[in-house]
Amino acid sequence: MPKKDRNTLLEVRNLKKYFPVKKQFLRAVDDVSFSIEKGETMGLVGESGCGKSTTARTIIRLYNPDGGEIIFDNINIASMTQRQLIPYRRRMQMIFQNPYSSLNERMTVRDIIGEPLAIHEKYSPAEKKDTIHKLLKRVGLSPSHANRYPHEFSGGQRQRIGIARAISLNPDFIICDEPISALDVSIQAQIVNMLEDLQEEMGLTYLFIAHDLSMVRHISDKMAVMYLGRIIELAESEELYTNPLHPYTKALLAASPVPDPRVKKKGEVIVGDVPSPMDIPSGCRFRTRCPYAMEICKSEEPELTGTDHRVACYLHK
Ligand code: SF4
Repeated sequence: MPKKDRNTLLEVRNLKKYFPVKKQFLRAVDDVSFSIEKGETMGLVGESGCGKSTTARTIIRLYNPDGGEIIFDNINIASMTQRQLIPYRRRMQMIFQNPYSSLNERMTVRDIIGEPLAIHEKYSPAEKKDTIHKLLKRVGLSPSHANRYPHEFSGGQRQRIGIARAISLNPDFIICDEPISALDVSIQAQIVNMLEDLQEEMGLTYLFIAHDLSMVRHISDKMAVMYLGRIIELAESEELYTNPLHPYTKALLAASPVPDPRVKKKGEVIVGDVPSPMDIPSGCRFRTRCPYAMEICKSEEPELTGTDHRVACYLHK
């Protein structure tokens, strides 16, 4: 199908991001490919250090990629200059994990939310004030909060301020980088519900990052599982959750908390630590922790294969 006929907002092809460390390279993102349709949510899941956040930051060009393409709305932005990126900056926003460190403590809420407006919009002071008040109401806060500072708010309220800032320019795409991990369980559902409402109203497309599969199961249309810089499984959320194929995905599911501790969890328990991304094992990068590793797993890296449910494992070739 010609690209213009498709409804894809973001397509990432063979993305790479390496960091030089002591004459070696830390391969944080090592040939990652996926696409997200307009209005869709994709969950990106994996243990900390697997490259999820680096993937996200590279997509929105906070980092320069070392290879691959980032096709946003049919245009490859991977090698654009900062100047060329200006019109895309307003369309791609990010909500950060820690609402305690992501807001500048010395700025008022008005200045935090108003900063992107000051850079990208030519509002009069009255228009800017009105827009900020509407945004505060939209995220469940009050216009009277505009003159306060971040330390006067709870974690959940701070995340609402971060969300108001992220939607201030009416973006198309938002990366939610573990936006609820640092919050109380009682607050998490409120934030997720609000993100879903905003998606519906504004037609937003999300990349939702989490370390726990169960956290993104309900908000995501599809999920990708990352291990040591690569996607090792990708499928629709319910399919991936109920029929995981890769031994690592099964282990992640087994490690997810369940609401009822009497419920016996299926899946395997993996042993050992994640190898260093500076010293990725040959062949399948999961083989040093995989209970099913075979001879071929040592020498050749399995490709992500399949159509609707894709997996990179020789058990499923
Ligand atoms: Fe395990 Fe081999 Fe599959 Fe890798 S390819 S997950 S080592 S069975």
